[in-house]
Amino acid sequence: MSDAPAPASKDFIRELIAEDVAAQRNDAWVVTRFPPEPNGYLHIGHAKSICLNFGIALENAPKSRCHLRFDDTNPVKEDIEYVQSIQEDVKWLGFDWGQHLYYASDYFEKLYGFAVQLIEKGLAYVDDQTLEQVRAHRGSLTAPGTPSPFRDRSAQENLDLFNRMRAGEFKEGERILRAKIDMASPNMNMRDPVIYRILHAHHHRTGDAWCIYPMYDYAHPLSDALEGITHSLCTLEFEHHRPLYEWLINNVDGLPGHPYQREFARLNLTYTVMSKRKLLELVKTDLVSGWDDPRMPTISGIRRRGYTPAAVRNFCETIGLTKFPSLTELALLEHCVREDLNKHAQRVYGVLRPLKVVLTNYPEGPGEQIELVNNPENPADGTRLVPLTRELYIDAEDFMEHPSADFHRLVPGGEVRLKYAFCITCHEVVKDPEGRIIALHCTYDDATRRGAKPVGRPKVKGTIHWVSAPHALDVQVRLYDKLFTEPQPDEAAGAEGNYTQFLNPASLETLTAKLEPSVATAQPGSHFQFERVGYFFTDPKDSQPGHPVFNRTVALKDGFSKAK
Ligand code: ATP
Ligand code: MG
Repeated sequence: MSDAPAPASKDFIRELIAEDVAAQRNDAWVVTRFPPEPNGYLHIGHAKSICLNFGIALENAPKSRCHLRFDDTNPVKEDIEYVQSIQEDVKWLGFDWGQHLYYASDYFEKLYGFAVQLIEKGLAYVDDQTLEQVRAHRGSLTAPGTPSPFRDRSAQENLDLFNRMRAGEFKEGERILRAKIDMASPNMNMRDPVIYRILHAHHHRTGDAWCIYPMYDYAHPLSDALEGITHSLCTLEFEHHRPLYEWLINNVDGLPGHPYQREFARLNLTYTVMSKRKLLELVKTDLVSGWDDPRMPTISGIRRRGYTPAAVRNFCETIGLTKFPSLTELALLEHCVREDLNKHAQRVYGVLRPLKVVLTNYPEGPGEQIELVNNPENPADGTRLVPLTRELYIDAEDFMEHPSADFHRLVPGGEVRLKYAFCITCHEVVKDPEGRIIALHCTYDDATRRGAKPVGRPKVKGTIHWVSAPHALDVQVRLYDKLFTEPQPDEAAGAEGNYTQFLNPASLETLTAKLEPSVATAQPGSHFQFERVGYFFTDPKDSQPGHPVFNRTVALKDGFSKAK
């Protein structure tokens, strides 16, 4: 990352690491890894793990590094498309693994050798039972498991069978390799866990070289050790796998490193589902337009929506690390996005639901140029000239024919300020034969230019934005909202239901907005604030030169779907 790492506050993981460094454990080296399985696109939950692992490495430089390792041990679900998208996403977040890109599949030969070693030590055996039988004999939390009838095979016989498994002599499900640990252990993961299974499947990297594949719980700790990882940080659901992690590290000889595992709570966000399986389902069933649909919580989705890497990193730092499961408000993530975009986004005038305004006392002709500030947060961004003419558009929501008491914008007979221009008064509401409002006839007051407040006149409470009608660009704008209507779609669905029943039918509204002419030259992938409306991003895929398409990143005010 180009910026210097922010001094992250000390959480329990960072404290632990600081103690290890102080005690010169591993010669004070800190080596972490981010270990995705390439079976889907990364989501915002993964960003938490990426920021943690890469962040810790940056904070402990120079005796530190963070590896990107693909845990590609299940060829059935994995794909090169995912491998590529994951690399792109980690880079986009601002992190760099340097030379340290690894694949668990590169260790298949070594992992096989370790399994042979365990067999020779009497610590692993080939079981002829099916996975279903193994599961059925596993016992329960209160009852010990039943040992397999094949548990006490000789090392010789086991070696022979394991070799033949590798040679492809057996069908899937006919044999498995299990670690020989303790069928009565209170921890189910220690009841002779399966460490290899037969899969006659093509692997995206090793091709057809293998027909036996190591289980995640076996491959992961040994891959960590092979790479010299010092701290293996994972989410809480692996806490009960930690004894197996340690058992493998302690029982396999000749490992170059001795990592240990610690767990932190995964990120859960309201109005979001965060399992790759479910995200894949949304994609496969066309409930969204793809992994990068701007409503998806995937990194590629939020990138296309206009979230920024800095905002995501700030969010991850803000939520911190805990040891207990929790639920984070989506509004907090949106807040971090607004905070970052406020600093950088170019301001423009845009009207989402145009209503024509004719200034009846304003001269016909070319009108005038009004100087507008590009970004009040950054004077160096300068100003631009925006045309103002006799015919304008304002947002239909800034006018009410029959106003409520708390409505302070334009009303019949009322006055409002056009931002950076002057005040106007509405004299006539023009309607079509169906009674729909099609235009407002107003007059402007030259004495109120640029914020001037003539004495003795009632105070004008509202200020609205505007776009010159003959200059306005018709631009496609997509208003994105929450993907789900329920804060916790999974919980709301319960065991019987399905989270998809809570998909928000109003999560995408497409409209043609009227924008100031300066946006014609907007490059794809640029951030804007439509003043008074929200933050928008020119879609990197669908924008054409001269024809930007805008995605609403986030509304301007907290409260998202209600903010207008
Ligand atoms: P999912 O549950 O979405 O399928 P996963 O854990 O199976 O995710 P992996 O590819 O194995 O996906 O994840 C890579 C790393 O990211 C793991 O270390 C995992 O613990 C971490 N991770 C996954 N989801 C989250 C989350 N919601 N919050 C924090 N870390 C996460
Ligand atoms: Mg996983």
